[in-house]
Amino acid sequence: MSQTIALYINGLNVRFGGFAAITDLTLEIRYGESRALIGPNGAGKTTLMDVITGKTRPNSGEVFLDRKLDLATRGEAEIARSGIGRKFQKPSVFEALPVAQNLELAVRRGLGWGEMVMSRLSVAQRERIEEVLVTIGLQEDRQRKAAELSHGQKQWLEIGMLLVAEPKVLLLDEPVAGMTEAESERTVELIASLRSPDRAIVVVEHDMEFVDRVADLVSVLHEGRLLGEGSMQAVRTNPKVIQVYLGR
Ligand code: ADP
Repeated sequence: MSQTIALYINGLNVRFGGFAAITDLTLEIRYGESRALIGPNGAGKTTLMDVITGKTRPNSGEVFLDRKLDLATRGEAEIARSGIGRKFQKPSVFEALPVAQNLELAVRRGLGWGEMVMSRLSVAQRERIEEVLVTIGLQEDRQRKAAELSHGQKQWLEIGMLLVAEPKVLLLDEPVAGMTEAESERTVELIASLRSPDRAIVVVEHDMEFVDRVADLVSVLHEGRLLGEGSMQAVRTNPKVIQVYLGR
């Protein structure tokens, strides 16, 4: 496993008015790893994702991609272009368009409308789309409208829409929420197949069994602070974690 740090977060503080959503949070996420972020509602997980993607500005602290790109000062579009892909909990695919066209639009993301309509895809882009269709298991469904897909398939399509840009950091917010058992199982396999020495995966998830299967390291947040970190086994037996979270 590569030991290079992808995301470096140091002494992070985020306040909303007088309320501290994140307090003195330090976290390092390395290339090659799959990290789970867990914690009860209100722990600060979404806020952390928002800071990493430039949606929320921290009050203080460092947030770096590759030790050089200061994410605390960049806009959302620039951060997305620099290799951070985020999937929100609810799929937001283009329902009226076929699967393949959703991926084509995702390739063109960041272009203006005129360029989007005019530009032709390069051979490399077409090949990338084909690869992604196979990865997300939707090659047979390429001409189907996204609206006709199952909930699970829509989630995979949305992951595919991030994959066409070959993200270095993939942030997945509750990827198995609302999925059937078979779909969750397939998502475990999908996430395993997305692992690469050139990529870091961060999963926010409540389903502990799923976390255990997809993540090497788990960071537990509680009331905006890092409560514990380590393997699922270490976290499960951490008394502080048991007390506030798993022991409920
Ligand atoms: P989680 O994703 O772990 O459930 P969040 O990051 O969504 O937690 O929220 C952390 C805390 O910050 C919560 O108490 C939430 O109410 C608060 N919070 C989040 N966003 C805002 C906001 N824009 N304004 C005020 N409070 C917020």
